[in-house]
Amino acid sequence: MTDIGAIDGSSPPRTIAVIGGGQAAGWIVKTLRKEGFDGRLVMVADEVHAPYERPPLSKAVLSGEAAVDTVSLVKPDDFAALNVECWQPDCATEIDRQRRLLRTARGRELEYDRLIIATGGAARRLEGAQAATKNLAYLRTLDDAVSLGSRMREIRHLLVIGGGWIGLEVAATARKLGVEVTVIEGASRLCARTVPPIVSEFLADLHRAQGVDLRIGVGLAALDDHPGDPRRVQATLADGTSIDADFAVAGIGLTPHTALAEAAGLAVQNGIVVDEFGVTDDPAIFACGDVANHMNAWLGRRVRLESWANAQNQAIATAKASIGIAAPYAEIPWFWSDQYDVNLQILGDVPMDSKPVIRGDLGARRASLFFLKDGAVRGVVAINAPRDLKLARKWMNQGREVDRERLMDTTVPLS
Ligand SMILES: Cc1cc2nc3c(=O)[nH]c(=O)nc-3n(C[C@H](O)[C@H](O)[C@H](O)COP(=O)(O)OP(=O)(O)OC[C@H]3O[C@@H](n4cnc5c(N)ncnc54)[C@H](O)[C@@H]3O)c2cc1C
Repeated sequence: MTDIGAIDGSSPPRTIAVIGGGQAAGWIVKTLRKEGFDGRLVMVADEVHAPYERPPLSKAVLSGEAAVDTVSLVKPDDFAALNVECWQPDCATEIDRQRRLLRTARGRELEYDRLIIATGGAARRLEGAQAATKNLAYLRTLDDAVSLGSRMREIRHLLVIGGGWIGLEVAATARKLGVEVTVIEGASRLCARTVPPIVSEFLADLHRAQGVDLRIGVGLAALDDHPGDPRRVQATLADGTSIDADFAVAGIGLTPHTALAEAAGLAVQNGIVVDEFGVTDDPAIFACGDVANHMNAWLGRRVRLESWANAQNQAIATAKASIGIAAPYAEIPWFWSDQYDVNLQILGDVPMDSKPVIRGDLGARRASLFFLKDGAVRGVVAINAPRDLKLARKWMNQGREVDRERLMDTTVPLS
């Protein structure tokens, strides 16, 4: 068994509480047991499902190609073997830091030695006139995906509000099911927060080629029941045009679940503020996954990431740190999206305003865009080019300088 210690010099933890039941929480409990923690482990989770992975929710689960049990992070028998007390469904409502006590909505109390917050976030909601209909859904949970998927199989025309990753993946899945799709994006381009204009244009071309009606640069003014049929919707855009559809789904970002931490007086700034070990400003409390704003040594700055890789790897590092195995989390941020026949991966720091070195052919939907700084690769967007990304990751970890001309020349193997 690994020597279980404590990073703040106090006695080893006997009770560890985890708030949340998503991907990060799943990796926390797995890691703690793997590393030899044999004390009491309690997971408070407000969803009924055992920890699961969300990426398939906008892809194969939504289309009905994958069964819901394929998303589980741990097989039921293996999860049972972890000996986790699952307080589920229950919701953590208060952290009493003085007494190291956690309270829940069902009236339970738990004294903890270490507390790990992995509460993720909720799909941001439309409000007021923009949400004056019941024919509107959001996509965050497995239950959301099942219900939206069955609705999508009944309709002819879907309105997607938001041209970010979730909205575009839902649009692609809907097209696969033969549903007509209109996407409304208020910003001047798609995925504007995460990719530069050249990639936004690529995505717009991709969706238009699949018959998606993209309305970019025009916001949603109102979303109502359709005046002629209350089972449908009618959207009014800021420019006065209106769109009729059978159903609407909004993918307009995520609100991290930080209220609990804030009420407990922990530092919160676009997520719960943690260091590279996942420690908050209270040494007994940790946070990781979508809810945490961590200091990333590779980027050299703080960041809150919403990605599968971060939910897994930051959770592993944080769980280890909570029992005194201190290995800083310093991974290069990595995210992927699947839309139609395109696998798009983003690695590292992708600036919005610099010109990338392009290898391959964007028009042919196979290209890698390298973003260089001082001769080294700092960011990559790989379109159907996973091997390029794998090699670039190696160079980026090494900080190795690259030759622009050779990068562009597809006759020269990258390796
Ligand atoms: C539809 C979809 C598709 C995605 N696709 C991709 C992709 O292709 N590639 C990629 O890299 N990433 C993707 N992601 C992102 C990735 O899935 C997330 O980054 C990851 O799930 C975050 O995990 P988490 O455990 O931090 O948070 P979550 O998964 O949000 O889990 C947090 C859990 O805690 C629960 N909770 C919150 N507050 C409390 C409380 N007070 N008490 C008890 N329980 C609480 C929540 O209900 C939730 O179940 C996708 C996400 C979604 C939603």
